[in-house]
Amino acid sequence: MIGIVGGGISGLVLAYELRRLGVDVTVWEAASVPGGVMRSELHGDLVLELGPQRARLTGPFRDLVESVGLSEELVTASKDLPLYVYHRGQLRRAPLSFSQAVTTDLLSLWAKARVLAEPFTAGPRAGELVGPFLRRKFGGAAYRALLGPLYGGLYASDPDRMPVKHALQRTLAELGVRRSILWRMFRSAGRAAESPPCSFRQGLGALPLAIAGKLGGSVRLETPVRMLRKRRVGWEVTADGAGSVPVDAVVLTCPSDTAAGLLGGSYPEEAGRLSALRYNRLALVYLKSETKLSGLGFQVAFGESLETRGVTWNDSLFGRPGLHTAYLGGMKNSELPDWDDARIAEIACREFEVVTGHSAEALHVSRTRIPAWDETWDGLEGVEWPPDLHFCSNYTARPGILGRITEGKRLAATLATAYATGSRPV
Ligand SMILES: Cc1cc2nc3c(=O)[nH]c(=O)nc-3n(C[C@H](O)[C@H](O)[C@H](O)COP(=O)(O)OP(=O)(O)OC[C@H]3O[C@@H](n4cnc5c(N)ncnc54)[C@H](O)[C@@H]3O)c2cc1C
Repeated sequence: MIGIVGGGISGLVLAYELRRLGVDVTVWEAASVPGGVMRSELHGDLVLELGPQRARLTGPFRDLVESVGLSEELVTASKDLPLYVYHRGQLRRAPLSFSQAVTTDLLSLWAKARVLAEPFTAGPRAGELVGPFLRRKFGGAAYRALLGPLYGGLYASDPDRMPVKHALQRTLAELGVRRSILWRMFRSAGRAAESPPCSFRQGLGALPLAIAGKLGGSVRLETPVRMLRKRRVGWEVTADGAGSVPVDAVVLTCPSDTAAGLLGGSYPEEAGRLSALRYNRLALVYLKSETKLSGLGFQVAFGESLETRGVTWNDSLFGRPGLHTAYLGGMKNSELPDWDDARIAEIACREFEVVTGHSAEALHVSRTRIPAWDETWDGLEGVEWPPDLHFCSNYTARPGILGRITEGKRLAATLATAYATGSRPV
């Protein structure tokens, strides 16, 4: 049997695929509901997303949705919805295609010309950080107005703290970028936009709930793992209310600090490095505002004096009446999530009005966190784990939902093959 610690989307997809491939699994999940950060809550009739606001309806996502019987629940948005950046006192459309890049008012003529020089600049240098890399490739103006906020926004991080080798190199390789990012984008123009943004009627949290439903008793909720003990072959997993269970292999999908605590007894040095990974904390403010705004939402350009990092327009995206979700904090202001709800809500409402011209009422404030992918990832270099211990997590591979699904499937195939060929420990 394979033991999986954590029933977020990573652990659930992995378990689901392993079961499909005939491998026995148990998922231990600390919380009373599955999904981890991918959770949705009802506020009256409104669906609030506590973590990700949308996924992309790519082939693998659609396959998974169909296989767990959720197709009827899918909601999609137009793939042409614009994304905006708040820059120099105004919302301006982010250029996400070549023709938009030509006409955008986000960049000056000079900044556009500088972007066009990108194919003549070199690829990443040893030890380079994402911020300096993007500025060297595309120029400072395009970085501050567009690339910095869009890229940093994915991680709520500061690209000036994110090493290319950890936070970007793998993505560039997967996209087939050798030297020029622009050239690659030009060749695949529009392909990413072929997958429309999507969610479910009851929010993204419906997906982990449906997968867990298919897994039945193999998912143990409210069962936090407290200890992992290495045996000569395999592991012993001790969880609250479940006693100690021997497994052939363990997969950790829980956050890195929890993983470090579980491994500290058997691998203290390696666990110390895991525990040093930084997370960015975020406050999410759910705003009610009757607007006619149409788009995905906006990011705030670097250098603007706002606490808000970005806002998703859930109303325009998935028809959630009057709902907009503001993100504050992250690496830009790591103290902000400690402030009280009323203060955070007041800032979010005020800044929403500054940016959009519409007054807003705060419905709710929640908090979450996301791996920072900064210099603390240097500590994981050279760490080796035993062959029967695996990670399937948003701090060891790409954090997006699609990345989590892809990795879960890939690892399941590897582990199932190891079982089938009898080459355990897996
Ligand atoms: C605010 C935010 C916005 C995002 N936006 C997007 C987006 O728009 N699009 C996109 O593609 N991606 C987005 N992401 C990224 C994506 O949602 C996450 O990377 C992904 O959902 C993480 O899933 P996971 O299963 O790896 O980890 P988690 O969701 O963190 O799951 C880990 C699980 O482990 C459990 N656990 C912890 N300790 C124990 C223990 N001792 N025993 C048992 N279980 C334990 C936890 O309860 C949790 O359920 C966003 C993430 C965040 C935080």
